Amino acid sequence: MTRPSAPRGTRDIVDLDVRTFRRLEGCAGACFEMYGYEEIRTPTFESADLFSRAVGDTTDIVEKEMYLFEDRGGRPLALRPEGTAGVVRAYLEHGWDQSAPVKKLWYGGPMFRAERPQAGRYREFWQIGGESFGNPSPQADAETLLLVRDILTSSGLTNGVRFLVNSIGCAVCRPAYREALKAYLTERKSDLCENCVRRLERNPLRALDCKGDGPKFTEAPLMADHLCDACRAHRDEVYSLLKATPFSFEESPRLVRGLDYYTRTVFEVTAPGQGSQDAIGAGGRYDGLVKLLGGPDTPAVGFALGVDRVARALQAQGFSAPPPKKIFIAQAGVGTSVTAFTLAQKLRTFVKSGRMPAIEIGASTKSLKAQFRAADGWGADWLVLVGEEELKKGAVVLKNLRSHSQEEIPLVEVVDRLLTSIGKTN
Ligand code: AMP
Repeated sequence: MTRPSAPRGTRDIVDLDVRTFRRLEGCAGACFEMYGYEEIRTPTFESADLFSRAVGDTTDIVEKEMYLFEDRGGRPLALRPEGTAGVVRAYLEHGWDQSAPVKKLWYGGPMFRAERPQAGRYREFWQIGGESFGNPSPQADAETLLLVRDILTSSGLTNGVRFLVNSIGCAVCRPAYREALKAYLTERKSDLCENCVRRLERNPLRALDCKGDGPKFTEAPLMADHLCDACRAHRDEVYSLLKATPFSFEESPRLVRGLDYYTRTVFEVTAPGQGSQDAIGAGGRYDGLVKLLGGPDTPAVGFALGVDRVARALQAQGFSAPPPKKIFIAQAGVGTSVTAFTLAQKLRTFVKSGRMPAIEIGASTKSLKAQFRAADGWGADWLVLVGEEELKKGAVVLKNLRSHSQEEIPLVEVVDRLLTSIGKTN
């Protein structure tokens, strides 16, 4: 029979990956708290139209990447392709726009997009993100960027991280820019990919963000030259705040977000060691989204980090998180079961060192040889053998499986000995 395998574009997160994810999640959680965010866990699926409205029906995500299904009641649902829509839905559903209009929420979890899988691009991938509602000030934009920087720095990702920042204007100034861009692109229609031609009318900014191989339109009109006074003042203030911090970023006048509800600040974060998938996160201000989803006019700014990609970047920079030390207790012979079992529990209760060792007990139904094999397979550092003969003398055998030394010691000393040794080797 063929062995089962995970669906295409998905994978099991194990070993170093899982420890890197945890490290990042731990650092992110601490940073979010420091910046006044509360955690929210939204469903992994929502009503499909929430995403077509929030993410936009001219985006790749909605046009071709959503996992759509109907539940048994015939309701159209979608696995979430991103986190913002669900958080905005929750903000409105709980009435926080009325009771706590200034609210900061963070989330982490798997997202689903039916993209073409490749290294660093999956169909199920993980994001950590934050959304800050109710603050129109440039300080909220600058704070969001610093929060992302702090999450990455505290998790250990420092080398080569780039922050690209731009302003894409607002409902006042973008329409004129859009027309200028549309005119420019219409003249070069033959250079556009099929998707960009189709979206030219409704969403010309997408052409600047096109992931295709076509020309990059380096001479295209820039939003920076079309910003209204209010947007220019906002952008300048964001940049001054960041420079006062200080924070290293690059003004990136060609960076866009193709959707109307994005306003003013947009940013992207990249890190080396990712091949073509070097974007590890993105974010920006989206003052139009809460209203678009049926709420009052509410300024908001947010971001999402790609956990899989940050983890890869961390590992490419040599990040290592060793697993805990492992103690395996083997047992053999009449009357050893209770001692072996209680010893395992005692060790688990008396763990004093900063990093907890893992404690495993061999199957009492298996031969000693099979238990030794299990200890090896598990990667044990230490093995305690509770044997019938030794136990009669009140002793056990302690083996160091790294140095291959072993000695018989009194049972009453084993907990202290192990915890001291582990403390020394940590
Ligand atoms: P987005 O929601 O498209 O702005 O993506 C935010 C971040 O999520 C990106 O910068 C990536 O790091 C990550 N990301 C997006 N799509 C994928 C994917 N298919 N696989 C892995 N990471 C992804």
